[in-house]
Amino acid sequence: MQLSKRVETLTPSSTLAITAKAKELKKQGHDVIGLGAGEPDFNTPEYILEAAQEAMKNGLTKYTPSGGTVELKQAIVKKFEKDNELSYQPEQIIVTSGAKHALYTLFQVILNDGDEVIVPAPYWVSYPEQIKLAGGKPVILKSLEENEFKITPEELRAAITPNTKAIVINSPSNPTGMMYTKEELEALGDICLEHGILIVSDEIYEKLIYTSDQHVSIASISSELKENTVVINGVSKSHSMTGWRIGYAAGPQLIIKAMTSLASHSTSNPTSIAQYAALAAYENDDQSLQEMNKAFAERLDAFYDLITDIPGITCIKPKGAFYIFPNVSKAVEMNGFSSVDEWVNAILEEEKVALVPGSGFGFPENVRLSYPLALEDLVEAAKRIKRFVINHHS
Ligand code: PMP
Ligand code: GLU
Repeated sequence: MQLSKRVETLTPSSTLAITAKAKELKKQGHDVIGLGAGEPDFNTPEYILEAAQEAMKNGLTKYTPSGGTVELKQAIVKKFEKDNELSYQPEQIIVTSGAKHALYTLFQVILNDGDEVIVPAPYWVSYPEQIKLAGGKPVILKSLEENEFKITPEELRAAITPNTKAIVINSPSNPTGMMYTKEELEALGDICLEHGILIVSDEIYEKLIYTSDQHVSIASISSELKENTVVINGVSKSHSMTGWRIGYAAGPQLIIKAMTSLASHSTSNPTSIAQYAALAAYENDDQSLQEMNKAFAERLDAFYDLITDIPGITCIKPKGAFYIFPNVSKAVEMNGFSSVDEWVNAILEEEKVALVPGSGFGFPENVRLSYPLALEDLVEAAKRIKRFVINHHS
C-alpha cells in the first residue's frame, strides 16, 4: 500500500511522542521525570467538572452546530471584549476540537499549493507540518537569541516574497516563553498590511505570564489589523483543560465561514459536553487560574536558576508559557555527543528525565523543558541532568 504524497514526510508530533514515551516508561515501573508534556499538571477546576456533569445529566449530549453552540460563541465574544478589547460578532467565531484543530482548519481554507507562510523559529512543532498538509510552504524565519527569540521588521521584510500569504505570530511563545510588545507587534503588523499578509495570531498562552509585561493581541491594535488577523485561542492551557479539546478561532467572517463548512464535513461539532464545560470556564471568574499562575511563577524561578547553573547550558529567562528553552550545545559537546537528539536520548536512558529536542522547534542546539511539575520533581530533574553533564565531561 502506497500512502499519500501528503503524508510522506509527515512525522509524529515530537512533543506528544516524548510525552507518550515518558508515560510508557513510568508504567513499566521506571522512575521517570517527564519534562516533555506541554500541559498544566493541575486538574480542571471543580466548577468546570460540575458543569460538564450537569450537561450530561440534562441530555446536552447531542450534535451542536458544527462551529459550536451559540452560548459558547457569545461567551467567547465577551471574553475578547473583556481581555483583549476586541469586538467580534458570533459569526466571526468558530469553536474547534482544540486550538490545534483551529490552526489546521485555518491553513486548509487559506492556502493554495505553493503559498508561503512565514513561521518564525523557534516555532511550535505543529505549524510547519500543518502548513505542508494544506499544500503550503513554511518559510522558516530564524530569530536570534539576543533579540529574545523575536523577529525584527527587517528580518520580516527580507522573508517576504510574492507568494507570501500568511505569518504565524505566537506570543507568549511555545517554546521560548518570549513575548512581543505592542510596539513590536505594530511594526510587524504594518509590514503585513503593506503586503496583504494574513496574520495568524496564536494566543493560547495569553493567561500564563509571570512578569509585569502585558499580553497584547495584534488584532486589537487597529481595525485594519483586526480585519487582517485570525486569532487562535482556547481553554486548554488557561483552564487546565488540555484533554477536553476546546479551542477557537476569531477573524474575518469569510474565513470563519469556510472553516465552519470544512468542520461540518470533518469533525462536525467539538464534543458537546466539553463545550458546556468551556462555557462554565468563561462564565465564572476563575480564582484557580491565579493560583496556577502563582505556582508556575515560583517553579519557573526555581527551575530556571537550577538549569542555568549546569555547566554548558545557557538560557534567557522566559516571561510566559511554561517552558524553558536553553541552548545546550556546549554541554553536548563537552559530553562527547554529536547531536542534541542523541544527548537527549542518553539522558532519558541513563537518568530517566524526558526532554524535547530543539530540532522539532527549528533550533537543533536547544532543548525544551516543560515545568508544570511539582517543585520537588523539578529539583530532582535538574539534579539528574547536572549529574549527567558532569559524569560525561570528557
Ligand atoms: N498552539 C500552541 C503554541 C500550543 O503550544 C498548543 C498546545 N498543544 C496549541 C496551539 C494547541 O492547543 P490545544 O491543546 O488546544 O489543541
Ligand atoms: N502544546 C503542547 C506542547 O507543545 C502539547 C503537545 C502538542 O499538542 O504538541 O507540548
